[in-house]
Amino acid sequence: MTLDRLVPRSAVDPSATAELRNEVRQFLAEQRAAGAYTPTVDAWLSAWDEDFTASLAARGWLGMTVPVAYGGHGLSFLERFVVTEELLAAGAPVAAHWIADRQIVPSLLKYGTEFQRSEFLPRIVRGECFFGIGMSEPDSGSDLASVRTRAERVEGGWALTGTKVWTSGAHLAHAFIALARNEPVDPAHRHAGLSQFIVDLRGPGVEIRPIVSMNGAHHFNEVILDGAFVPDSMVFGEIGQGWQQVTSELAFERSGSERFLSTFVLLDACAEEMSQRRLPRSADLGRLVARIAGLHQMSAAIAAALERHEPADVPAAVVKVLGTTTEGDIAEFAHLAGEHDVGQHFSDVANMAVDQRPGFTLRGGTNEVLRGVIARGLGMR
Ligand SMILES: Cc1cc2nc3c(=O)[nH]c(=O)nc-3n(C[C@H](O)[C@H](O)[C@H](O)COP(=O)(O)OP(=O)(O)OC[C@H]3O[C@@H](n4cnc5c(N)ncnc54)[C@H](O)[C@@H]3O)c2cc1C
Repeated sequence: MTLDRLVPRSAVDPSATAELRNEVRQFLAEQRAAGAYTPTVDAWLSAWDEDFTASLAARGWLGMTVPVAYGGHGLSFLERFVVTEELLAAGAPVAAHWIADRQIVPSLLKYGTEFQRSEFLPRIVRGECFFGIGMSEPDSGSDLASVRTRAERVEGGWALTGTKVWTSGAHLAHAFIALARNEPVDPAHRHAGLSQFIVDLRGPGVEIRPIVSMNGAHHFNEVILDGAFVPDSMVFGEIGQGWQQVTSELAFERSGSERFLSTFVLLDACAEEMSQRRLPRSADLGRLVARIAGLHQMSAAIAAALERHEPADVPAAVVKVLGTTTEGDIAEFAHLAGEHDVGQHFSDVANMAVDQRPGFTLRGGTNEVLRGVIARGLGMR
């Protein structure tokens, strides 16, 4: 059987972005030296630092792909890729703006009204507007079409009622895009009757309850919508097209380097410890570095495909399955290394990585479900 390529061929010339990459590295070294942040794992989801976000905005590294007309920088996905990859590899605290910059920007550009673009894009570029993702519900994760949050027509807009769960950063973000049912389920067309709404997380009818993780950290929330009013101006895209809109965001959500670099600071630290002979040499380090190098190539190739407006759902699923497995393996490798004399800070970060590890392969679509997407891409389902 001849298989089509699953991931686009990498045609990215690293020399074209070398200067930008060096600039970001230099900036990060200065920030670290000034004590502006301490590198950590899973920083894109857990390390919320609005001051750091503001310093990135000041450098022009937020909303890089936003057109100049909306206050952005009109740059390419590849340039954004270079900046975000360096930030993630350095364990920089980028959680505050991550979701807005990664997927709300391209979604607004694709589906947002002129009013919504003008309202949100300039503020995202300035690092002043943060978003969450309002998809999952208590009984609806992988099978997203089963969401039960209801959107009912009321004068001037819609009233949303239901519960969203695992909403990262909802307690700090300004808004999220909620997926809701505006029509009862039609068993023959389960994906019909769904719509998206931009919900003000500080508005009336919205209650945010913290979900505290086993390690005491708080980044998840439950969001209770009790008739929350969404004006017509904040309907996102078209009523009834929610499923198509949500699925078109997924390549942005799944293909980036945050799907393999969440624990990279630990790999870096292991290499340093080995070179200083505080850790015994291990060929596994080289294997993990090789996996990261391959993922870098694949993820960059997808950034180039997104730039060309090519569909990239299947390659994004490949990166996410392979990448999240790799970052979990790095966590385990570092955790085992923590049994040696590597210092308290290393052990603390390795412990945090192991705590976070189960989430790597779940968030943004589980590996089991993504293998189904890949199988479909291969024509096997
Ligand atoms: C760290 C983290 C952050 C998150 N942030 C957000 C957020 O900000 N906003 C948001 O909306 N959601 C968020 N989520 C939720 C996440 O998207 C869901 O956890 C995920 O989609 C899985 O849904 P579920 O937890 O309901 O599991 P389920 O869908 O109930 O799955 C349970 C198990 O069954 C397996 N399974 C389910 N269906 C199939 C199938 N068809 N074939 C094979 N196996 C299957 C799954 O792989 C999994 O192992 C976050 C999750 C995590 C861990």
